[in-house]
Amino acid sequence: MIEVNGLVKSHGPLNVLRGVSLTVVRGEVAAIIGPSGGGKSTFLRCLNGLETFQGGSIVIDGLRLESDTPTPIRDRTLRRIRLEVGMVFQSFNLFPHRTVLANVTEGPVHVRGLGQDEAEDRAKRLLDRVGLADKLGAMPRQLSGGQQQRVAIARALAMEPQAILFDEPTSALDPRMTAEVLAVMTDLASDGLTMIVVTHAMQFARQVAHTIHVFGEGRVIESGPPSQIFEDPHQEATRMLLSEVQ
Ligand code: ADP
Ligand code: MG
Repeated sequence: MIEVNGLVKSHGPLNVLRGVSLTVVRGEVAAIIGPSGGGKSTFLRCLNGLETFQGGSIVIDGLRLESDTPTPIRDRTLRRIRLEVGMVFQSFNLFPHRTVLANVTEGPVHVRGLGQDEAEDRAKRLLDRVGLADKLGAMPRQLSGGQQQRVAIARALAMEPQAILFDEPTSALDPRMTAEVLAVMTDLASDGLTMIVVTHAMQFARQVAHTIHVFGEGRVIESGPPSQIFEDPHQEATRMLLSEVQ
């Protein structure tokens, strides 16, 4: 479903990604852990077509992007990739002046071309699923952080993407709100959604992820099932990282 090979990305002189390779199969939950500044957000932004890159390739659901893909083809591929890959950010990024319902119907109506009624039916079903059926008319500022993040998840799901990327979705939340959001994500995982989750929530990574990729210094330094990463890490850097966060 997602195959990344030798991804290289720099910001000016700073080499942020120095050859990242990883594969995510359909229905897989992949967790990415790693130190701050290790290139995790940059990696997700490359996957979602929010950043260009200087080397390597990305294939998502058969859509192929290489660093030297000619601009017109790249732009068309990027548009298709953005339709297929949803993103949930640490800071929620809801439209502040729109109701909860309008936040979730906006993309399906304006990007997918769904009728308003159909989009509202879909949005109501998804908001019910994330436990917010009673907040359809609320404005984002009237919601807690955990509620806002659940709206953001419903909004991503409403586009019916092939995969959703989560960039530290609970880092701005207190423990109770974190639990609410992780419960929703666990539900999506058990439903077979393909997910890549950058997270410091190690319990979640351990219990829900199928594969954990440890980032460091712009590379994947170790990948494996949670049992290996947590109980028998092969790399010293993984051991150090886990001793810092646990
Ligand atoms: P992480 O998400 O793992 O904390 P990031 O991908 O946000 O790491 O950042 C990796 C490195 O790239 C950091 O050193 C950061 O300062 C740098 N960086 C990120 N975005 C930019 C940018 N737009 N311009 C310059 N440097 C950037
Ligand atoms: Mg980050």
